[in-house]
Formats: sequence, C-alpha cells, structure tokens
Amino acid sequence: MRDRHFDDDDDIREERTGRRFTEFDCPDCNANNPHDEGFRVGDQVMCFYCGAHFRVRDGGGKPRFVEA
Ligand SMILES: [Zn+2]
Repeated sequence: MRDRHFDDDDDIREERTGRRFTEFDCPDCNANNPHDEGFRVGDQVMCFYCGAHFRVRDGGGKPRFVEA
C-alpha cells in the first residue's frame, strides 16, 4: 500500500509522477486557496476569493501560475 501522506514541501518536485498540490496562493490577490481534490501541472485552478483562473505550469519544482 502506498503512503499518500507526503510532506508538502519536500516532495513537490515529483509532479511528473503524479504529485498533486493541495493548496496555492493566488498570484493576483495573495489569498491562500486550499484545494481539496488537488491539482497538478497542466491543470487549471480558480481563486475562490477573486475568481481569477490560472493554468498551472512547472516552475522548477514548484507550481507556477499563469493567468488563463
Ligand atoms: Zn485571487
């Protein structure tokens, strides 16, 4: 059985193998958005505070958000 409990910061570079991120800080309004389902590079996320949409890009081990 795989252990699905990762420490957020240390394993963040493994998105290629299915690493999912469970929160993000909105680049527009700086709000922290918990993301229950998780998202990955290539996904699109929405800020629940200001409603902006972002596409998730690989930012060199961290997710990078580009306005969609
Ligand atoms: Zn926002």
